[in-house]
Amino acid sequence: MKFFTAVGKFFKDLFAPTNFKCLNCGRDVFDDTGFCPECAKLLPHNNGKTCPRCGVGIDGEETFCGHCAFDKVYFDKAYSAFSYEGIIKKAIVKMKFHNLATFATPLAYHLVELSNKHNLHFDVVTFAPMSKKSKRTRRYNQAQLLANAFCDRLGISQPMDALVKVKETSPQEKLNKQERKQNLVGAYKINADVKGKVVLVIDDVKTTGSTLNECAKVLKNAGATTVLCLTVASRKEKIPFELEDN
Ligand SMILES: [Zn+2]
Ligand SMILES: [Zn+2]
Repeated sequence: MKFFTAVGKFFKDLFAPTNFKCLNCGRDVFDDTGFCPECAKLLPHNNGKTCPRCGVGIDGEETFCGHCAFDKVYFDKAYSAFSYEGIIKKAIVKMKFHNLATFATPLAYHLVELSNKHNLHFDVVTFAPMSKKSKRTRRYNQAQLLANAFCDRLGISQPMDALVKVKETSPQEKLNKQERKQNLVGAYKINADVKGKVVLVIDDVKTTGSTLNECAKVLKNAGATTVLCLTVASRKEKIPFELEDN
């Protein structure tokens, strides 16, 4: 009897519609996308012209964004599902700062979609780490939760703690270009053997790109052959690029 109950539960769970609340309006959502049909219409998909290297939305004639054209980029490719604005920005801010860690599961759905769309292959999944102090304050690392949910959805082993953050840094947003670079120097250390591996780094949002770039630098220095990055959203490049100052 017990056996049949367990089997019954297994199938029930398997076919039960997922019941999330819409991350934007709170209505019930019966699929994995995290947004009700009305709010889904407002999603800022990153479907327009994007930088072929880092995946940010770009306008104008240039092929690459200003960062990839002028700075040293250590990751091989980065992809974002959405542009960091509107209801996605709202959802990410809630996940990060309003103790809504549960948002990570539906948002990871979009990371899986993105990974499938680009047919990504990787040996190791990891995430942008947080310092111990920040993790104590927030109690969770949203990038890690996204990576966990991403692996769960794909049915692969849980992400690796490939990197540790060993230095407290100031929020990148508040710094100018030079300060940003300085801020992250020595912030990350390698924590796993990634030699000869293709590493996928997951983060919630890519704003300046410096965090992922610094993570990629450390992974490459430790022998990773390829570093790919996936974020839920990335900030569209501002025109003209010079004004952005990062
Ligand atoms: Zn909604
Ligand atoms: Zn770029």
